[in-house]
Amino acid sequence: MGIIFDIKRFAVHDGPGIRTTVFMKGCPLGCVWCHNPESIDSAIKTVAKTVYIGKKKFTEDETVGREMTVEEVMTELRKEKVFMEESGGGVTFSGGEPLFQSEFLTEMLEACQKENMHTTVDTCGFAKWDVLEKVARRTDLFLYDLKLMDNNLHKSYTKVSNNIILENLSALLKTGKRVRIRIPLIPGISFTGNNISETIVFLSKLNDPVEGIDLLPYHNTAAHKYKRFGIDNKLNGLKTVNKVELSEVIRSFEEAGFEVKIGG
Ligand code: SF4
Repeated sequence: MGIIFDIKRFAVHDGPGIRTTVFMKGCPLGCVWCHNPESIDSAIKTVAKTVYIGKKKFTEDETVGREMTVEEVMTELRKEKVFMEESGGGVTFSGGEPLFQSEFLTEMLEACQKENMHTTVDTCGFAKWDVLEKVARRTDLFLYDLKLMDNNLHKSYTKVSNNIILENLSALLKTGKRVRIRIPLIPGISFTGNNISETIVFLSKLNDPVEGIDLLPYHNTAAHKYKRFGIDNKLNGLKTVNKVELSEVIRSFEEAGFEVKIGG
């Protein structure tokens, strides 16, 4: 059994082609910019939600997360197989952090591969190497987050050290796996000259190449979720990235020899 909090059809930013994205609950990090703050807690939770109809205010319960078997998820995925095949797409496991439910994830990946569905895992890379290695054997493509290169900043904005994340990335690339790097661009936090140049230096020094870079500019689109689920939004009011600065960042990565996409 896994705990899933959403299954999104027709996803076009979570890997190649048209994909179905399975969002798994639970994450060992606590990024202040998280777009799915309701996914961090691994438990299934029921929260009171406020809804307005006209001027009338209603409160109703909303349950976040549900237990699903591999077969139940596969039944949902099979409905989309024709779109996956026609578009060169597949299935993406995201979260939360999919490695947090590594046994269920492994079973899901095996089931997908048995039915010739392309598999992508969107991960923060924070897990023991043997867990990641087992998952990697059943994964076609990784979308691997690099958030902050300065370890103290990483700890203060995500609650964990980046050591294991950086070590796992080198080890994963050594296996020959396809890996795209995802960098959330959070103004004043990860979207700074220092962080971008340190990231470029780190990636350039890796012995094995990454396939490309996906830059994810910050948007305030998750603000309603923080409100709805009663979670403190530390970035309330933060503006999105400046377009001129974004072009400079793209140019810096390209000049260092990386292929860059915006939004994944
Ligand atoms: S790693 Fe992803 S899911 Fe986990 S807290 Fe950070 S942004 Fe949210």
